[in-house]
Amino acid sequence: MRGYPIVISSPSGGGKTTLVHRILADMPKAAYSVSVTTRPPRSGERNGRDYYFVSKAAFERMVRKRELAEWAGVHGHCYGTPRKFLDAKISLGYFPLLDIDVQGALQLKKKYPDGVYIFLIPPTLRELSRRLRERHTDSPEDIKRRLAAAKRELAVAQNYDYVVLNDDLDAAVERVKTILEAERWRAHRAESRLKALR
Ligand code: ADP
Ligand code: 5GP
Repeated sequence: MRGYPIVISSPSGGGKTTLVHRILADMPKAAYSVSVTTRPPRSGERNGRDYYFVSKAAFERMVRKRELAEWAGVHGHCYGTPRKFLDAKISLGYFPLLDIDVQGALQLKKKYPDGVYIFLIPPTLRELSRRLRERHTDSPEDIKRRLAAAKRELAVAQNYDYVVLNDDLDAAVERVKTILEAERWRAHRAESRLKALR
């Protein structure tokens, strides 16, 4: 059985990183897709675990050689998903889990239409702003930019398959797990099981 990508997006501070860790801990066949980025590492981030940190020239080379399944410019830096990891995991029956922005998710949806595309939303923009400030990873200027981007990102959320409210974290995790469980049993994924019964 082939796997399919599970794509999680949200405005910055919407809870993607937190939720992705919870899903990875509970879903042995999920495999985190480590992105390539030109952004410098934040303190505590490790090359190869959080991102592959590369130069602009190396990133451009990967784009030229079609090594990225999607890529986009986000908050002033380039980010992309290595194609090799994605396709290898899918063909081995694993579920690559991607934390990517809306531009990338919409590119991927065209190329991997059987994936599951989930957009997380905060209860309010005020709460989103509070979470960004409390995270202590971004400057006030940066937070302003991320909140302005949030409004643009929310405008395309309806292109996803699911829009999940992240008010309470445990509730949001349960919602996503319920979606993923139901997705496993979609009729169009049953072909090989049905064939084996004939
Ligand atoms: P993203 O990866 O989407 O930018 P994070 O996962 O870093 O977002 O979450 C942003 C901040 O909000 C983190 O400090 C995280 O602990 C917190 N957070 C996430 N979900 C919730 C929630 N449901 N309630 C309160 N705080 C949350
Ligand atoms: P951060 O710099 O805060 O880690 O991430 C900034 C934004 O880039 C987030 O919205 C995150 O989802 C997005 N992002 C991370 N990796 C990728 C990727 O490979 N492709 C795209 N399109 N966006 C990504």
